Amino acid sequence: MNKITALEKTGKINLSLKEEPSSLNEIVSLKGRKTLISGAASGIGRAIAIRFAEAGSDLILVDIDKKGLDEVKEKTQLNGNAVLALCSDLSGKDAVRDLWETISPDVPDTIVNNAGIYPFKDYLQIDRNFYENTLEVNLNSVFWMCQNFIRKRGSRGGIIINISSIEALIPFKEDMAHYSVSKAGVMALTRSLARDYGRKGFRVNCVLPGAIRTPGTESLVKKAITKLQLNLIRAGINFNSRLTLGRWGKPDEVAKVVLFIASDMASYVQGTMIPVDGGFLSC
Ligand code: NAP
Repeated sequence: MNKITALEKTGKINLSLKEEPSSLNEIVSLKGRKTLISGAASGIGRAIAIRFAEAGSDLILVDIDKKGLDEVKEKTQLNGNAVLALCSDLSGKDAVRDLWETISPDVPDTIVNNAGIYPFKDYLQIDRNFYENTLEVNLNSVFWMCQNFIRKRGSRGGIIINISSIEALIPFKEDMAHYSVSKAGVMALTRSLARDYGRKGFRVNCVLPGAIRTPGTESLVKKAITKLQLNLIRAGINFNSRLTLGRWGKPDEVAKVVLFIASDMASYVQGTMIPVDGGFLSC
């Protein structure tokens, strides 16, 4: 048995050590892999779960929304792949530790940290609870998820995909300072872990969505229109004018990029931030 085959037998993730793959199907496939996706009950996370199931991955779906989670579980159990749905509020280090205790020793080889919230609030009105809750869900949960993952995978390595936001690079709307801070933290964490753990077998990357139509963003748009929030409507018009593709995106358009990063197609992609934003950051 050569060295490479021995590594594969131990469950070590392929970080391009493998001989040339024989076909495109093989390098896109996630058969034999297991992916944990947070925020999987809705929007972008739901779309990622559906694409990953199609690619053959076993799934661990995590979300605070039990009803949505059950629906996605049913939708992703189509290819004989195993799907586990865990209802969990990921805010808090202990909650994240409990989640990893529940799934051990059956540890995934890939995690997609997607769960997030984006409530608007005037910077001067933000109190400690509000600020800390945003950081807990959007940043701290990602921090602890990655730590648990790297500890549990150890020398087998693995793949981490964190979902940040274009907002962390270009703040496009007022009342989002807390959100921008949390998502900039996700980018900094991604790059630090890529540097620290790349040589230890971990590929760590970040996706920056923007202008994706999801239940979360749709409810904001509806609220702005029904409450005639003129500031929000004006911000929406300015925002749309930066989309050089001239339209909002679908959750599946993010999911396809996340699938690319998780697959061997991206075996040499490390520590990067990939916008999926219809051109927002390009002008
Ligand atoms: P979404 O439709 O609101 O879905 C997010 C999911 O995460 C929901 O099911 C939500 O449950 C869940 N969640 C919220 N708090 C949680 C917690 N504490 N523990 C576990 N699950 C929790 O949002 P989305 O638009 O798909 O966004 C997904 C990610 O992309 C977020 O991180 C967001 O910041 C990022 N993003 C999105 C866009 C965009 O244009 N859509 C742009 C930039 C970045 P509930 O619905 O019950 O809260």
